[in-house]
Amino acid sequence: MPPVAPCAAEQVLNGMAVSRGIAIGTVHRHDSEAVSVPEYRVAPSRVAEEKTRFAAAIDTAQQQVAQMRDKAARLEGAASEELGYLLDAYQQMLHGSRLVRGVEGRIEADRINAEAAVQREIDTIVHVFEAMEDSYLAGRAADVRDLGRRIIRNLAGKSWRPFQSLPKGTIILAEELTPADTALLDPKVVAGIATVLGGAESHTAIMARSLGLPAVLGVADLLRQARTGDTVVVDGRNGRVVLNPTADLLAAYRRMRAEYLRGRRLLARLRDVPAVTRDGQRVALEANIELPSEVASVLAAGAEGIGLLRSEFLFMNRDDAPGEDEQFDSFKAVIQGMQGRTVTIRTLDIGGDKLAHGLGITPGPNPSLGLRAVRLSLARPELLETQLAAILRAAAFGPTRILVPMVATVEEIQAVHAALDRVVRRLTRARVRLPDPLPPLGVMIEVPGAALGADALAWNSQFFSIGTNDLTQYTLAIDRADETVASLYNPLHPAVLRLIQFTAEAARRARIPVAVCGEIAGDPRYTALLLGLGIHDLSMSATNIPVVKQHIRSLDLAAATRMARTVMEQSDAGRIAELVDGFSPIPT
Ligand code: PEP
Ligand code: MG
Repeated sequence: MPPVAPCAAEQVLNGMAVSRGIAIGTVHRHDSEAVSVPEYRVAPSRVAEEKTRFAAAIDTAQQQVAQMRDKAARLEGAASEELGYLLDAYQQMLHGSRLVRGVEGRIEADRINAEAAVQREIDTIVHVFEAMEDSYLAGRAADVRDLGRRIIRNLAGKSWRPFQSLPKGTIILAEELTPADTALLDPKVVAGIATVLGGAESHTAIMARSLGLPAVLGVADLLRQARTGDTVVVDGRNGRVVLNPTADLLAAYRRMRAEYLRGRRLLARLRDVPAVTRDGQRVALEANIELPSEVASVLAAGAEGIGLLRSEFLFMNRDDAPGEDEQFDSFKAVIQGMQGRTVTIRTLDIGGDKLAHGLGITPGPNPSLGLRAVRLSLARPELLETQLAAILRAAAFGPTRILVPMVATVEEIQAVHAALDRVVRRLTRARVRLPDPLPPLGVMIEVPGAALGADALAWNSQFFSIGTNDLTQYTLAIDRADETVASLYNPLHPAVLRLIQFTAEAARRARIPVAVCGEIAGDPRYTALLLGLGIHDLSMSATNIPVVKQHIRSLDLAAATRMARTVMEQSDAGRIAELVDGFSPIPT
């Protein structure tokens, strides 16, 4: 009889609950460094083509290493020297070395694809180094592997995608998932996620909520014992991950999951009823989306429009930037899909925790404060004008608004207006069909300086959308994606609320619409306060619309306004939380 594997012990780990629901499934450990290497035979007639592909990947690697060399030269003292030696060694390995000749030989002799040839050659070299049992050479073996991975990534280029061919019910466990990684998850296959790093307002958390995937982030010990194939529960309500649960606990979680899903089905019945308070105030509930594929769930949730389309997700997971036609096609599909409901398209917001390799931008020392969002768009006018042209053309197919992220000064929004005028003139000359009137141009209020200067911005724009995720991050100087300071992140801090109130009042004075599209818009805990502050347009992950709607229908606006007034007289965030939670307790 084969030996019976001992049952792995149950392990309960705690982290931050960032996306509701309970997922029960099988662990897939995601190693962001790993590259899956495709292996296939090539016909004799394709050998030359394979060698050319390999040569191009080596060229790219040489450029990458040269860029790293430039950066290394700017480092201080010993670090610069150490890294310099390593990069010199890389350059040597990339220039007609044993590695390069070996790979070419394998493509020719074994008639295999370049990726597989690189992997086999690297394995052989590493094996030789490791056999010498010398600690210096063992270190070099790791460098050779690293270089091999780089060449394979270059070869795989656009077509390389993690999370392919996973079985249904997979739960991804990782040190960290980037927003770009999360955008690749297929919710029909992946049941949930848990990571060691990441804050509750990171774009990874936001994506998990949009996709309706239960998620727990900031789980310190997550990867110590978890193995691919283990059974795992991700409890997105209580911030718990249970590895190899006992039969009893598993059964309890199955019951909780069924109950949660039943609650969601009941809420779904609210789809066609209006979001209106008991005393008759209508509230517009819109959806935030990252991917055009989310439109179906947005409609199913009963959203009145898209209040935020994060266009930067079109730029992720690729080595180039999408051109005007490609962006136009995506925007048009969303606008047509929304069947006459307004779609608010935000121009590129790359930077912070969102990266797009195809733009060739190396993050600066502090990416959240660097060349992010509108700053990047204005520094690279071709990017901005391409986007504006794509949006204008798509806007001919349905009501559209243009939203500009991270504006801090009046000059920035004026520069975007000027770019829009240029693009309109160009398209008009080319006799392109444009919407009439042109889409309104709005400003995200998410930098404290913009909130304080909201009056001037209101005169230079046609609507506001308050991005409380960044507004809280920048007001309190707390990185929204860093789990080590997540407990300090608090949108109920009186300074944040003051900025929201100030922005809403400036919008009212200038008679322009104002919405909130940060994550607090989708959390019923904040609904009464936002309504009481005069905000009647909320944009959120589609999955949150039913629960926020249900809550609005139980509220009284006059009472919420009085509560908001009392809140704004407080100086203590703890007291504010008591007032907010005491006014309209949210059932858990
Ligand atoms: C925000 O900052 O609140 C916002 C909605 O934008 P993002 O989360 O994409 O930065
Ligand atoms: Mg933002």
